[in-house]
Amino acid sequence: MPTRFFNTYSRELEDFRPLDPAGKRVKLYTCGPTVYNFAHIGNFRAYVFEDLLQRHLEARGYEVERVMNLTDVDDKTIRGCRQLGVRLAEFTQKFKDAFFEDLGALRVKRAQHFPAATDYVAQMIEMIRVLEQKGIAYQAEDKSLYFRLSKFPEYGKLAHLNLDELRPSGRISSDEYEKESVGDFALWKAWNENDGDVKWDSPWGPGRPGWHIECSAMATALLGPELDIHCGGVDNIFPHHEAEIAQSECVTGKKFARYWMHNAHLMVDGQKMAKSAGNFYTLRDLLAKGWTGREVRYALITVNYRLPLNFTFDGLAGARSALGRIDEWVARLADHTASAILPDDLPAQFAKGVEAFFTDLDDDLNISGAMGRLFDLIRDSNRALDSGEINAAVAAAILDGWNRINSVLGFQRDAVTPSPDVLALVEERQIARANKQWPESDRLRDAIAALGWVVKDTKDGPKLLPKAHCGP
Ligand code: AMP
Ligand code: ZN
Repeated sequence: MPTRFFNTYSRELEDFRPLDPAGKRVKLYTCGPTVYNFAHIGNFRAYVFEDLLQRHLEARGYEVERVMNLTDVDDKTIRGCRQLGVRLAEFTQKFKDAFFEDLGALRVKRAQHFPAATDYVAQMIEMIRVLEQKGIAYQAEDKSLYFRLSKFPEYGKLAHLNLDELRPSGRISSDEYEKESVGDFALWKAWNENDGDVKWDSPWGPGRPGWHIECSAMATALLGPELDIHCGGVDNIFPHHEAEIAQSECVTGKKFARYWMHNAHLMVDGQKMAKSAGNFYTLRDLLAKGWTGREVRYALITVNYRLPLNFTFDGLAGARSALGRIDEWVARLADHTASAILPDDLPAQFAKGVEAFFTDLDDDLNISGAMGRLFDLIRDSNRALDSGEINAAVAAAILDGWNRINSVLGFQRDAVTPSPDVLALVEERQIARANKQWPESDRLRDAIAALGWVVKDTKDGPKLLPKAHCGP
């Protein structure tokens, strides 16, 4: 089965074929954060889904060139810096840094390009100039420039809106608006005193770009006029992505993006997690409560991206115990083999399981199916280990299969080594055990646990496991 994705534009599952005649390179644009605050884990659901998409395409042999923009000038960032009385660049830098730290904690692969909108204002002005020459952009009495919607009859097609049925609302200057108020949207916003010192010179006087033109300019500047895939959360479909299509296609005359993929929301008690609703957690909030980035990644990535996902702490606990199962299995296989051993061919029963993981993902990133395949593989190979059917070379081959799967999931436990203090306590405990001093041995086990490690006594001697990885 070829890889196929649900395209928001056609509302159909479509076989994936990149524009590249060699069928290898994929141009992927993903709308990034507005850096006016710490991103919440709802935002990160979008970035983790896009990471799964990129990693799966790479596992299938594609070379993905990805752009994720940083919106560092818009209505919200300007409001934020004005409230604090600091310069825009100083205000946004803190949130840019935090964003990259969070991406690292969530193991999201770095895009090749993270353009910041403020570095592309010249390209935005150029696009607006072309639109003006074509009679599509016009300057209104408020000195701002707007996109003349009547010039682009396709507006609304991505969101499947029938514009004729909606009441036009004239012009809209704010970056975000509802479907009910379809109107000419702002391309360039003339400076006013609420903007403070945030302004750029332009052929139309001082001002700043609208949010939508930012993405059109950065996408086409870095990836060219045609993208393979464009992603974002469903809330971006209207008006943001509609506007991106309208602006880009009117300037370039080419189809802007072939596949539009949108993730459903992360919800809390039936409501979208959002800054404005006040029902959000940042990654930092969760790390401070003792959860790890790996656990949050697991909870966000393992629900199919087009299904709403309800955020709960039970869900995080489930992620912790599932990762514990995976860790134990990987550790067991590693114990059963040695680095010098050449892997055997993977026996058919396990090879099928590994392949099924990837074919499930070919089906519009069906991650819940794929995770089912992984846990079947874990169960079957654990049973085979129990009954002594697996030799060291087969264990090595299963680990190779896991490494392929993990290149997409990014779940592998970080290698952690116990400190000399922990090792000394383990040695003391061995002596206590040899002398049958059981209470002392238990005391030492607790002391080791207090340092974050669990001792397991096996026939080959004591084994140490990091406590965070032993399940709840
Ligand atoms: P923003 O910074 O608001 O532009 O959002 C950045 C990305 O996060 C966009 O792709 C949004 O669609 C997405 N997003 C925002 N809230 C949620 C949510 N609760 N669940 C999933 N994605 C979201
Ligand atoms: Zn965008």
